[in-house]
Formats: sequence, structure tokens, C-alpha cells
Amino acid sequence: MKCHIWSYPHPSYTVWKLEDSLLSSSSRYKTEIMGLNPIEQDSLLTISSITTDDFGVYACRVYNTIGSAMAIHIIQDVNECSYNPPCNQGCKNSIGSYICVCNDGYAFTNESLTYCEDINECIKPETQTCAQICTNLNGSFLCSCKDGYTIESNNYDCKNNMDLGSGEERETDQLSMEITSETLYTVIGVCAGGLLAIVLLILTAIYCRRRTLQEDECDGFKSVFSTNVAYEQSVVKDAGNLNCYLSNINNSILKDEFPRQRLQLGIDLGHGRFGKVMMARALNISGHGNWEMVAVKTCRGSASDCEKEDLIQELDVMRKIPKHENIVLYLGCCTKQDPVYILMEYVKGGNLQSYLRKCRPSQQTATSEEISPPSAKDLKMISLGVARGMSNLHTCGIIHRDLSARNILITPNFTCKICDFGLSRDVEGCDVYERTSKGPLPIRWMAPESLNDQMFTKKTDVWSYGVLLWEIVTLGATPYPGMTVREVIQDVTMGKWLQKPFHCKQELYLLMTRCWGSEPASRPTFKEIVCDVESLLSQEAEYIELNTYQEDKYNMLENTSDERV
Ligand code: ADP
Ligand code: MG
Repeated sequence: MKCHIWSYPHPSYTVWKLEDSLLSSSSRYKTEIMGLNPIEQDSLLTISSITTDDFGVYACRVYNTIGSAMAIHIIQDVNECSYNPPCNQGCKNSIGSYICVCNDGYAFTNESLTYCEDINECIKPETQTCAQICTNLNGSFLCSCKDGYTIESNNYDCKNNMDLGSGEERETDQLSMEITSETLYTVIGVCAGGLLAIVLLILTAIYCRRRTLQEDECDGFKSVFSTNVAYEQSVVKDAGNLNCYLSNINNSILKDEFPRQRLQLGIDLGHGRFGKVMMARALNISGHGNWEMVAVKTCRGSASDCEKEDLIQELDVMRKIPKHENIVLYLGCCTKQDPVYILMEYVKGGNLQSYLRKCRPSQQTATSEEISPPSAKDLKMISLGVARGMSNLHTCGIIHRDLSARNILITPNFTCKICDFGLSRDVEGCDVYERTSKGPLPIRWMAPESLNDQMFTKKTDVWSYGVLLWEIVTLGATPYPGMTVREVIQDVTMGKWLQKPFHCKQELYLLMTRCWGSEPASRPTFKEIVCDVESLLSQEAEYIELNTYQEDKYNMLENTSDERV
């Protein structure tokens, strides 16, 4: 196992541990340090003759004069059967390896014990021999008789037809045939009648169920997402397309289950309202047999059942979203035990809010990590990516409800990916979500109708997008600088907008203000926003003049996601 160390001040010493016990060099363990240069080293741990007793979590901890850091390796038995071993029939996982197994009637024919072939049972000595003709089949065999002979009930022996019986017996046979045909007609009659009755019953049940569904669909929906009287009309109008929400959840989650033992958790990447996201490695998650970097979302250690339910709800939304460049890719889940994990693609650049804040002139000191500041064009590309992702989300009937820079991930080449579906809801067929539970809400990103009536629609996501544009232009400032949430609620419900940043051109601010139309219907859709941003991008003019950016006017608050109404 190798730990690559890069440390300034230079590393003082390194220790290796298995679970909690310190490993020192012995006949089985060999530790060595390979110095690449004064601040870069490789620490190696070699174990000879590995056995199952060596399975476990190995930690390599390195110290310098400031502190220490740690990396882990895990030795465990993996399920080799899941990486396409060359078994053509069955595979059994064994410690450190796998064994191919053959079905009955098949056996290995090659030396490597991987390929099973059909055995010719007709010539196998232990097979029950057929009296006359034996035909080999795949995995089995069949006995038959020559002309003039009939197979006996034991399926092996043949009887000469001449011996089948005298005239008296034939008369009895005739009689039994008549009885049989009479019985046959009765059976057919009874079956047909029964079948007809069943079909009628099914038709009646379908008819009744349809009527009940038509009457109850929005009621059923209300039990999950209750609706407000003012919006009842639009709810009832669209109720015909309604998904049977709850019954889908449990069935579908099971299909994405990823074996927990093939997951290695790493450092924390971030946390928000209730969850935390960790970096992790997943073995063979995309079927290539490798460890791949993923991000894992889970509840915090102390999560209550209710928060776990929220995570399952988030998982249910994520698995409905088709793959899209601007939406974080969902990869699978671990739900069979606690804690529940949601697995998604790891996005290297982290969240957009932190990225924008790191790009501020004051953060560009000699000691800060190197970060290429975005050009005005990059900022417009970011805005376009988010709009495209949102347009796709809305096409799938999902509203996000927490659209903000902290919930957008960014790759090093400025591709934006929408994440955090913790508040998202599938509103297909109803288009409106009324929140009934209490919990922190992203007040500074919320439209007046959400603040007043707790109503969330695609148009309230558009409002949040306007605020997100403002965040992008101000390099991650907290919306409504210097105001408390109460003042924000007061201003927004009275129709006041965020002010135009000095360095933002009128055309771009105009797009923000269209997103903040007081009438939800007057706000553009995300499809329209995509066209608008594309057209802004195609023009040469600079809509964001970063050289005149006045950083001191745009404060940054931490933890705005914990604000409550
Ligand atoms: P919460 O619901 O708790 O707000 P989020 O899903 O918003 O959790 O994630 C919290 C933070 O974790 C994000 O702001 C981001 O910094 C980081 N994060 C989330 N998902 C990923 C990911 N797929 N790749 C990299 N970092 C991520
Ligand atoms: Mg979040």
C-alpha cells in the first residue's frame, strides 16, 4: 500500500495503523519511506503472505510541525463474481477469488474450470438407460420407442403395441374414451364459463378503480403534498397525469442498490441543512472493474427518522432525473442498512458559491490555492449551464425549491451541475407544491408567493434563478446585503428587488428583473431563459465588468441555508 505525501513544512514522520493498532516493521510488515524531494514522499507498507486476518482498514498518518493528515486503504474480499468472470453458467464468490459452477447435466471440459459444456447423458454409465432410443438434450436426455412400441409411464421402457390388449379390453377402452370426451366437454364448459366470469370481474374492477382514481387522484396527492385553495383549479386540471407517487418509491429504489462493502468513504466535501456529502471510492460502479471516485450523500450522524425520510425522498427525486450534462449524475444508493447513502458523480470543483468567493480579488493572495478567475464570458457560461439544467429538470416535472449558488457544482472547465434535491419535489400533473412541514427555508432565494403562502412552482424556481444570477455577478455575495431575513421578507413581499450591481450591464439586470416579475405568469420559462442567455453570449458586449467590481459592497454570510420563516 502506498501513501503519497505532499507536505509543507516537510513531513516529520509517518505511522501505519490497522484499525487502531500501530504497525511496526516485522517479518510480515515492511514499512519504508521513499523521498522524492524534501516536501514530497511515498510511504510504503508491504505485507507478505496475506491472509484473511489482514483484512481491515489501514490508515497512514503523516505528521509535520503544524499537524497531521491521514489517508486510508482497505483490504477486503470483493465479490469477483460481479466483475464478469469467464464462467458461462454460474459463479460462486470465494475468499480472494471465485469458482465457476455448472448446472446439472453440464461439466467443465477445459482445464481452467471455467466453461461448462453439455454432457451426453445417453452414454453416461450412471444414467438410467432407455429401453430403445436415447436422445441427448442440453442438460438432459429423452427416451423414445421404435414404431409399434409405446413408452411406458416410467419414461424409460417401451411396450409392444400388439401386447396392449384383447377385444374386451378395447371395448373398455372405447367406453373410457367416450367417458373421457364427455368429461372433457364438461371441463371445457366449466373453464369457459369461469373464464368469462373472471374477465367480467376484471373489467368491473378496472372501471370502478378508474372512477375512484378520477375522484381521488388529487386527494391521494394531497396526503403527500396538500394543495392550496387558490391553486386548486390548476391542480384538478392536470390531475389526470398523476403518478402514483408513494407506491413507486420503495419498489424502484431496490434496483439501484450498490453493495456497501464496495464503498470506501473519504473526507467530507460539504454539508448543508441536514445532510453531509463525502468523497468516496466505489469499486466497479460503472462496470469497468476499477475503483472510481464518487460523492456520497448521507444524513449527519444524529439524523432523526424524519431526516432519513427526507434523504429517501431526495433519492427518489434523483433517480427520476435522466442523465443531463448540467445535473449531477445519480449513480446508485445503499438503503438496506443505516446510514442510507446516495451515490453520485464526484464533481471536482466543489460548489459554485465557494468557487465564486475564492475568485474575489481579496482572496487572490500569494498563499491561497491557485484558482483561475472566471472571465465575464465564463460567468455567462455558468448562467447558461444552470438554465439548461433547470429547463431539463422542469421538463421532467420536478421543481428544485432550493436553487442557489451553494447548490450548483462546478467542474474545472466551468460546466455547472445542479445538485441538492433535498427540497425538490416531483409535481408532475399538479405543478404546485405547498409546503406543510416546518424546517429551514432558503428565504433570500424565495419568491413572494412562497414567502406568503408557502407555494412552490416552476415559476418560483425562476425567481430563485434571478437571485442566483445576482450571486454570480457579485462573485458569491449573500443576497440583500446587510439585511436581516425579516427585512428581506418585508421588502420582497412589498415588491422590492435586489439592486443592480454597478458592474452589471442593464441587459443582464433586465433578465434578472424578468425573473422577479410580481405575477408568476409574467416570469419567463427556463427554455426562454436559455435562449436569452445564449443571445447575450453571442454578443460581443461585456455584460459583467469585473474590473469595476466593488467587493466591499457585497458581503458574504455563512449558513443562510438555516434561515427560517
Ligand atoms: P445539503 O442538502 O446538506 O445542503 P448538498 O447536496 O447541497 O447537501 O451538498 C453539500 C455540499 O457538498 C455542496 O455544497 C458541495 O460543496 C458538496 N457536494 C455535494 N455534492 C457533491 C458532489 N457530487 N461532488 C462534489 N461535492 C459535492
Ligand atoms: Mg445544499
